[in-house]
Amino acid sequence: MSRFFVSRFDDLTPYTPGEQPRDQVFVKLNTNESPFPPSPEVVKAASDAAATLRLYSDPDSTDLTQAVAGYFGVRPEEVLMTNGSDEILNFAFMAFGDAACGFVFPDITYGFYEVIADLNGIPYRKIPLDEDFTIRAEDYFGVGCNIVIPNPNAPTGIPLAIPQIRSIVESNRDHIVIIDEAYVDFGGESCIPLIREYDNLLVTQTFSKSRSLAGGRLGFGIGNPDLIRDLNTLKYSCNPYNVNRMTSAAGIAAIQDDVYFRKNIAEIQRVREYTRGQLEQRGFTVLPSVSNFLFVRSNFGTAEDLYGALRELGVLIRYWKTPRIQDWCRITIGTRAQMDTLLNAVDTIRKERGL
Ligand SMILES: *Cc1c(COP(=O)(O)O)cnc(C)c1O
Repeated sequence: MSRFFVSRFDDLTPYTPGEQPRDQVFVKLNTNESPFPPSPEVVKAASDAAATLRLYSDPDSTDLTQAVAGYFGVRPEEVLMTNGSDEILNFAFMAFGDAACGFVFPDITYGFYEVIADLNGIPYRKIPLDEDFTIRAEDYFGVGCNIVIPNPNAPTGIPLAIPQIRSIVESNRDHIVIIDEAYVDFGGESCIPLIREYDNLLVTQTFSKSRSLAGGRLGFGIGNPDLIRDLNTLKYSCNPYNVNRMTSAAGIAAIQDDVYFRKNIAEIQRVREYTRGQLEQRGFTVLPSVSNFLFVRSNFGTAEDLYGALRELGVLIRYWKTPRIQDWCRITIGTRAQMDTLLNAVDTIRKERGL
């Protein structure tokens, strides 16, 4: 820390992203990226847009916003496009949280919520998941502050049903409920239709996972126009040209190539169920994930142990040194061939240990 860093950030612990190795020798199952490249239409659109990079991007992302609004059957004024969904989450914490009105979220969830709250000096409280790692909707009824919940949750992959979300939103009408749908495309159900009923609901999604654009950095929020207006006030105060020209073009093309999107989702779901079965045969406990990852516990050692042994064999997965989940690892669903490499590595480790 330099002697100039303001004391307000003394205790700030930044988010730790999953490893991004520079040498591509690993089978990379650690950060929930898509194993499939963006569609050829997306690549073409982005490279065509590169020729126009001399100019600033459209600060309103008009065409992209219209494409996304049309796709989800909402109005453009109900949509805000951002530089990854992490950006809209940050805007939402800034806009709706303060010292008097903080946030609650599950104890086991996306690690970035805590970081954003700390960054903005917003208090927060964690609500423990149930023993089986599900979210108990009742725990969020009338909590008296803002709420953020991923649906499905990460890193468990377990979803909430729409009636449960509705009851959470309904019982907190004087506070904002953010439903983070980063993984909803892999088998959850979106609550976007509820935004017309509830002016306190903000739904966020990302192009990073299901639409193969993690490196493009594109996310969005959908909610009541008044909420979107507030978020725009912050956007125009932080980063007016937040979505760059290449990403904007890529995003429009990605929305248009729905056939490609659906084909990839179906394949990831198929490979997920195959991998689940294979891991269970090898003595793993696997949570009922509807995401593009599985949260698993081996019957031979800690998460750190499995992570280390797989890394030696060229396969990267993710684990956290967090209470309650020390024995659990998150494995991203890759291609069938990548998952077979993982399963072979697991067999090697089990044989080494005489299992
Ligand atoms: C990946 C992820 C995000 C945000 O991803 P971006 O790449 O910033 O769009 C948000 N929430 C959860 C739960 C995630 O896993």
